[in-house]
Amino acid sequence: MASTGATTLVNPATGRGFREVHSVTEAEADAAIESAHAAFPSWRDLPPGERARLLRAFAAVVDAHNEELARLEVENSGHTIGNARWEAGNVRDVLNYYSATPERLVGKQIPVAGGVDITFHEPLGVVGVIVPWNFPMPIAGWGFAPALAAGNTVVLKPAELTPLTAIRIGELALEAGLPPGVFTVVPGKGSVVGNRFVTHPDVHKVVFTGSTEVGKQIMAGCAEQVKHVTLELGGKSANIVFADADVAAAAAEAPGAVFDNAGQDCCARSRILVQRSVYDEFLGRLETAVRDWRVIDPADESSQMGPMVSAGQRDSVLQYVDGATVAFSGDAPSGDGFWLPAMVVESSGVAEPVWREEVFGPLVAVMAFDDEDEAVALANDSDYGLSGSIYTGDLGRALRVSRGVQTGNLSVNSHASVRYWTPFGGYKMSGLGRELGPDAPYAFTEEKNVFIAT
Ligand code: NAP
Ligand code: MG
Repeated sequence: MASTGATTLVNPATGRGFREVHSVTEAEADAAIESAHAAFPSWRDLPPGERARLLRAFAAVVDAHNEELARLEVENSGHTIGNARWEAGNVRDVLNYYSATPERLVGKQIPVAGGVDITFHEPLGVVGVIVPWNFPMPIAGWGFAPALAAGNTVVLKPAELTPLTAIRIGELALEAGLPPGVFTVVPGKGSVVGNRFVTHPDVHKVVFTGSTEVGKQIMAGCAEQVKHVTLELGGKSANIVFADADVAAAAAEAPGAVFDNAGQDCCARSRILVQRSVYDEFLGRLETAVRDWRVIDPADESSQMGPMVSAGQRDSVLQYVDGATVAFSGDAPSGDGFWLPAMVVESSGVAEPVWREEVFGPLVAVMAFDDEDEAVALANDSDYGLSGSIYTGDLGRALRVSRGVQTGNLSVNSHASVRYWTPFGGYKMSGLGRELGPDAPYAFTEEKNVFIAT
């Protein structure tokens, strides 16, 4: 069963291997889970203010290493340096935000006859966090920070392709003074380490972010032990542009809404729906914006998009390009590395794979619609429901369409999806449960009710 050996990490911008990372075996994963289980009671029982102080110290050490973490992500994942600095900063911010949790994890006092009724939010125990390769730092932090704050210990499995920042953050946790076993990074294969989080009886919750296909297996596996599970899965989000919108602004923002992180973003607005009367104007302006989109060395300060994370991901995107007609595209470096340009297709119908499936690359499909009802119906004609945008100058329409679109995170006249202090998660096959926002720590607790007869 044990998978031994090492993974060779490849710089996506050059295609060259640069480091070997040990792949944790099943026995080593068990040892990590057991030490997290052993560390749980004393972490749970720390005075709340002390746990809060340690989380703030952790945030400060992450902040002091922002540039180092960002450079690691550029080399390991091909993220632009600007994005990578934001991502490391997001880990700091999420830790600071949830460092306010321990002293505020209050229960209720509920009126009852003949006594007193009070509730407690008790931590679950060991939480296993499984992270994909597309946003290694933020997605890790959204799981481990609220879990630790609520008094759980955490084992974290980064994606095999992109473990470096997680490994470093694990070291920084110890440097900040978190006791050993409280937060352990366990790099290895999903089929070995990730699967062990699902099957090990001392892991009490699994937080999984990744593909819908693997997410279903995780949920089925967790059912065996009636284990808590949160799923953040794929998306095929719609960007709906109405004729009454500021069309120039909508077109200027559309590349950022889908091509950020080279389209390897579960929130990517990879379907653009444009009202027919402004379709030609929008497409013309979009072409200008796409040609200006800077796909260059991700270490360059002005880079807006780097390479695909791997040759495999690039090839998977190219399969969609083969079946579609690219209306226009931007520039990309040629030569070594897993480069693709930003590409736009005019979709010929809702059955097309490029319209229905999550491409997870820099390829967007555009389609015209006639009226509001049709726009909402087209947006909802998807298995997914993670995010989306609505561009309109009509406030009533903005609210009607926001309520009509079945998706977890909508932006009106904007494409920003994620703020750590607002909830994030999907409808339909995009997931189960919510992360971030004020309530996230409760998802890492059991609520206990106690009645005391007086
Ligand atoms: P993936 O194949 O589902 O893998 C995600 C993570 O799960 C990786 O760490 C992977 O390990 C692990 N894993 C794979 N098989 C497993 C198993 N049987 N048991 C336990 N763990 C297992 O997804 P990906 O290819 O890395 O990422 C792309 C997908 O993730 C896209 O569909 C994207 O939409 C989705 N995603 C969603 C969100 C969101 O917030 N909703 C965010 C990011 C990505 P390995 O390292 O061995 O692959
Ligand atoms: Mg995979």
